[in-house]
Amino acid sequence: MKNIYSPHSGPPLLYGSWIEGSLINSAGPKTTIYNPFDRTPIGQVPELNDELVNEAISQAHLCFTEWKKSTGHSRAKLLRAIAAALRLEEDLLAQTITLEQGKPLIEARAEVAYSAAYLDWFAGEAERIRGEILDGPDSTGSIQIRFEPVGVAALITPWNFPLAMITRKAAAAWAAGCSVVCKPAPETPFTALRFAAIATASGLPAGALQIITGDAPRIGDLLLSSPLVRKLSFTGSTAIGKLLMAKAAQRMIRPTLELGGNAPFIVWDDADLEQAARDGAAAKFRNSGQTCISVNRFFVHRSFVEPVVKLLSEQAEKLRPGNGFDPETTLGPLTQPNRHNILNNLVNDALSSGATCSFGTLTDPAQSIMPPIILTDITDTMRITKEELFGPVCSILVFDEDEEVITRANASPAGLIAYVYTSSAKRLEWASQNLEAGMIGLNQTRLSLVHAPFGGIKESGIGREGHSMGMREYQNVKYCSG
Ligand code: NAP
Repeated sequence: MKNIYSPHSGPPLLYGSWIEGSLINSAGPKTTIYNPFDRTPIGQVPELNDELVNEAISQAHLCFTEWKKSTGHSRAKLLRAIAAALRLEEDLLAQTITLEQGKPLIEARAEVAYSAAYLDWFAGEAERIRGEILDGPDSTGSIQIRFEPVGVAALITPWNFPLAMITRKAAAAWAAGCSVVCKPAPETPFTALRFAAIATASGLPAGALQIITGDAPRIGDLLLSSPLVRKLSFTGSTAIGKLLMAKAAQRMIRPTLELGGNAPFIVWDDADLEQAARDGAAAKFRNSGQTCISVNRFFVHRSFVEPVVKLLSEQAEKLRPGNGFDPETTLGPLTQPNRHNILNNLVNDALSSGATCSFGTLTDPAQSIMPPIILTDITDTMRITKEELFGPVCSILVFDEDEEVITRANASPAGLIAYVYTSSAKRLEWASQNLEAGMIGLNQTRLSLVHAPFGGIKESGIGREGHSMGMREYQNVKYCSG
């Protein structure tokens, strides 16, 4: 029997920040965290002052000066121990995620498993750290290439995957031998704090993970102006990514940026429509549409618009909106209180420009739950096709020609992911070559895998997470000759 949160018991939360291996709760102002489903307060974390933020950075640096001397094998052992501990604490972590982020418990459990998988994957990468020795130009010397940990890494993480977005970065950093200062999103600090406690209990050195809470721009400035910080990894909006990159440039801090997408999902006239609708709905409605790889624009061949809308509507009909703790729920609340209003405005803007609402209806923006909506007669000029929706709204656009749909799909500053549904091998190959995206789903949508390089091109970001490339983001290359 799994433990299920009730408003009376609730998962135990850690109120504080995590510095040098302990929970600290400073005096002074606090941020209140709310349950996104019913908007009730669930706890507070401190807004750390400059002194405590700098202390966290110093402790991370102190830890780094020792930890960088450890072997990849010893770090691998530790990463695997943390992964095992996360799996043991699945109930507690999943309930904390659902409480503060809102997603259905079954999705929160999947996030815990996915998060642990990053620790296991990067444990393997830590064991495989190796340099290269090449012959020099003459018999007297050689070219040695070493990969060394870059130093203290600043991680700024979002609320949509409050655990996985931390482990994806921290596991790669630790594998390389870096220490980490993490600022979680203000909506979801409790998952981050629980992760820190579990990792510390599993043997993580004090200082290898600091969780700092408080005012984002001030903390961002302190992190990026500190001479002790040598790496930035951020997941969030493109606007904030650009701002942080400009600040990082002042000190040549290497950035890894996972930013917003505007994913096209192309359904050709030779596609398996049932599969396309099933996969498209999953990629649209998972986490209530609040993922950077959620479908933003469905491009459907003109000859199949009606059946695709019908099949997508059947999928939407099956969703059970509600409290993530209710086992029946498959569509949780929107995490941020203003998102429902933003989405209603985008839907209204499209409707007033000629779109048709083919499924669902607008609901009160004061409600945390937004039931699914399917809009047809969408055109490329409407605002709804240009902004990252982050909600359960499907926009259906119609196309006729192969060249046309690729050009329209690429007509976005974003280039994170694209999905293609067709039974033609020639079209799959052609779309793979011509779509401007860092990731392309060919008749499938499950692309977030630990052993694959996750990341975008154009304004969707720089660098990759997962794969062996993920650890390289936290390593300097040193070339010695002689
Ligand atoms: P955001 O504005 O990009 O914020 C992401 C994180 O960065 C938050 O923790 C935020 O803290 C922090 N931040 C903001 N300004 C900062 C600064 N100057 N220095 C340091 N940190 C700073 O994203 P959001 O408000 O959470 O969501 C807005 C939109 O971003 C979403 O609707 C979605 O379109 C996109 N988004 C994308 C992803 C993704 O996975 N690519 C994830 C989340 C959101 P504060 O909230 O305290 O400002």
